[in-house]
Amino acid sequence: MPVGRRRGGDRREIGGATAVGYIHARSLTEGGYVAWVLRLVEIGAEGEGSCADVVEISRPDGLVDIADLGLTLAEAKLVLAGVQREIVAAQARDHAVRRPGCRRCEGVCRVKDYRQHAIATLFGQVAVWLPRFRCAGCGTTGTGVQWPPYARSTPELDRLRAQLSALLTYRTAAALLGQMFPVDAGQDPETLRRHTFKIAKTLSMASAAEAPVSVDAQAIVVSLDSTFIRSCEDGERHLEVRIGNVETESGGRQVFGAVAKVNTDIGALIRRALDAIGRTGDTALTAFTDGCPGLRRILADAGVTAPPMLDWFHIAMRLQHLKQVAGVLSDEDLARGAAKAMIITEVERLRWRIWNGKAKDAQISIDRIHALLPSFESEPARKLRRALDAVDRYLRSQSAHLVDYAERHRAGQRVGTALTEGTANFLVNRRMAKAQQMRWTRRGADLLLQVRCALYNGTLGTGFGQKFLPTNDPHPPMAVAA
Ligand SMILES: [Zn+2]
Repeated sequence: MPVGRRRGGDRREIGGATAVGYIHARSLTEGGYVAWVLRLVEIGAEGEGSCADVVEISRPDGLVDIADLGLTLAEAKLVLAGVQREIVAAQARDHAVRRPGCRRCEGVCRVKDYRQHAIATLFGQVAVWLPRFRCAGCGTTGTGVQWPPYARSTPELDRLRAQLSALLTYRTAAALLGQMFPVDAGQDPETLRRHTFKIAKTLSMASAAEAPVSVDAQAIVVSLDSTFIRSCEDGERHLEVRIGNVETESGGRQVFGAVAKVNTDIGALIRRALDAIGRTGDTALTAFTDGCPGLRRILADAGVTAPPMLDWFHIAMRLQHLKQVAGVLSDEDLARGAAKAMIITEVERLRWRIWNGKAKDAQISIDRIHALLPSFESEPARKLRRALDAVDRYLRSQSAHLVDYAERHRAGQRVGTALTEGTANFLVNRRMAKAQQMRWTRRGADLLLQVRCALYNGTLGTGFGQKFLPTNDPHPPMAVAA
């Protein structure tokens, strides 16, 4: 069948609109309705060419009901789908009369036969008949198109499916796509998952050279953290996810992440992020992590050789917990009330000591709190003792990575990247969190994470800009230090 020829019976009805190949003579104007016909005129090099009636729409002729104002979504989708069909048909007609030169010899190509290809687009499934050409001289065959014969969707649809899947569950993303656009193929959740994975694999092949261009950075702060998501793999309840970001003083930022124990090389991702943000041989690198030695090893492997500092945010969280536990101690009588107040003061002093780089004096505060504990009932005191011991162990194990946070803060330097926790939230928790009761395969989580990172970094194709700005930082250092 020739390209783009319409059959008379090819018509669908949605709402008040009817897709037609010709103006169907019927009354659309009864009872206060007016009909419109959308006519598409092809303008080529030779001027006005063929025209086609794409769709007819009948709408009420007045403004009585606001619901009748202009087009409905259903009609808009029909218009888009109709215009798409006509334009694709015209492109296919033009393509069919071309006779490409032979790739091998000087011969002339002739049409051997036509093959039908169904392609999913954002504006509906289209069917194109692609000619297969054969050289009259040497017999070489070709299609004259640059896309592979197995292509079933346009890159724009692929990217949008990946983008929506990165932000929403596959099911919601599929439903949203179907609601907003006349996509009539490939909108079930499984298709979205498959296409998202496909896009993720192309991302891992992209080199740093394709990352956004940035100016040379004098200083870069690297942070690396880990979080957990629920696993659906046999014998594992949780999967460890490593995430982090690189930042410059001017507010440039790139995020990266990988699920542990997959083929994704997080060291390579860190190096790529550093290059993308403008690392040179002279750039001063500062690194922050939580206390995990594994993360420090990853940073060293990625070429971040300066010893990482312990993120102030992680310390602050532990001290906050200590304060909460102390806060539930009884203050029923005067003696206990006084002891409780002294404990809370001492927790504050502990915080002040660590903040001011005097962690070696932390033991003084810890001992003082211990000494006050016997005045309390056994259970609350036991809980506080456990929290206190945990802080004690943490500070001892991290002593080499504690710095004078106050001094750094006064100098306008970062004291950590509370931001990393923010990164965990927007990269992992919002889409893959435990609260959503989602379970993940190691590979599936990693591939989706690659798409989420690309989305936030602005590297997911053109038109999908960088999603965050420095002003979006949910925990500025001041707020955490205060
Ligand atoms: Zn040839």
